[in-house]
Amino acid sequence: MPAQVTASAANVQAFRGEIVDFVGDPALLGAGALRHHADGVLVVRDGRVAALGPAKATLRTLSQDAVVTDYRGKLIVPGFVDTHVHYAQTDMIASYGAQLLEWLERYTFPAEARFKDPEHAHEVAEFFTDELLRNGTTTAMAFATTHKHSVDAIFEAARRRSMRLIAGKVLMDRNVPKAVRDTAQTGYDDSKALIEAWHGRDRLGYAVTPRFAPTSTERQLDLCGKLLEEHPGVHLQSHVAENKSEVAWVAEVYPWSRSYLDVYDHYGLLCERAVYAHCIHLDAEDRQRMAATGAAMSFCATSNLFLGSGLFDLAAAHAAGIRVGLGTDIGGGTTLSMLRTMAESYKVCQMAGQTLSPLQAFYLATLGGAASLYLDADIGNFDVGKEADFVVLDPAATPHLARRIDRATTLDEKLFALMILGDDRAVHATHILGSRAHVRGGA
Ligand SMILES: [Zn+2]
Repeated sequence: MPAQVTASAANVQAFRGEIVDFVGDPALLGAGALRHHADGVLVVRDGRVAALGPAKATLRTLSQDAVVTDYRGKLIVPGFVDTHVHYAQTDMIASYGAQLLEWLERYTFPAEARFKDPEHAHEVAEFFTDELLRNGTTTAMAFATTHKHSVDAIFEAARRRSMRLIAGKVLMDRNVPKAVRDTAQTGYDDSKALIEAWHGRDRLGYAVTPRFAPTSTERQLDLCGKLLEEHPGVHLQSHVAENKSEVAWVAEVYPWSRSYLDVYDHYGLLCERAVYAHCIHLDAEDRQRMAATGAAMSFCATSNLFLGSGLFDLAAAHAAGIRVGLGTDIGGGTTLSMLRTMAESYKVCQMAGQTLSPLQAFYLATLGGAASLYLDADIGNFDVGKEADFVVLDPAATPHLARRIDRATTLDEKLFALMILGDDRAVHATHILGSRAHVRGGA
């Protein structure tokens, strides 16, 4: 347990431990992207980073009433950023035996239809946000359902925990059961009302959320573009090119399109703050459009493996200069743990004849995710002035992890063992704006 040197409720807090964060992308800067203090101190004032440095020198600068939490023996890293997740699919994780389109019909739409009940939405939102914190995730970009109040539920849960979170009402006005269908007009009206109620309130942001091209009419996609135009600064989230049958379906529904991604491009939905999950079956022109418009990709490894969708091409995304973050994509994904998601991302890269270094993986889960959400001015690393969301990782969380890390001689090796062997058990504590929002074992 962390030892508190003083019990004062001062607004300056300091956290001592091994501190790791990134000042840029290791794919571009190599080891120069890394900032590492083997014995460091992170100073937080009023919820923001006030200083970061070696322990001895930094402790000397603190006033006597500063509270110092001792996390020596553990790693302090920026809070994880999950760039694609469906909070309403919390209960349908681990649903057997289907690929994307059948899986949506059989499991997803019935699970999302249950959100007609606001009580159910609130109960799931509470569980989901607690699980994010338990897994060290401090920011997420989340799909709700077609029900307007499902967005209120997740924003209220995030707001109570002071979390930085982006969410939106799912827009689907065709090719889905009536229980989860809206219309182009009600979808637009509800989204507009939600933006006015929530966007920019505390740490919350709104994302216009068409599920994917085949479940929206052209009128609905047109209105998505209008919402973005009318509300500068809001996000957009959707899916693209996840599964081959889905890609073929989109070609039937939009016969005029050059590609699946081109449908979104046509309606002005490729832009900064737009995040597309999966991006597996794309071509060079698609990638060029994503790079040129500033749209980001969410690499959802556990979901892509679980649903048998395909292998994300990280090297091609990097070569094209596209922003990439990691997504858990619950419930197609199989874990809310970003550590496990990093491990599966590594394996996907291996299958594709590529690699994912531990520095690159931790970058993608922190500053890279923040940059793909265009939130890197606020979160993602420990630059002075940023919001102090961070995770305390325990390298001795399990006997095998402890044993492996005992034999690690470099930081890279230690981080790699944590991402390959770690999960929620390796998350000792999660801090939001400096305050401890979760501690393992609940002490
Ligand atoms: Zn998804």
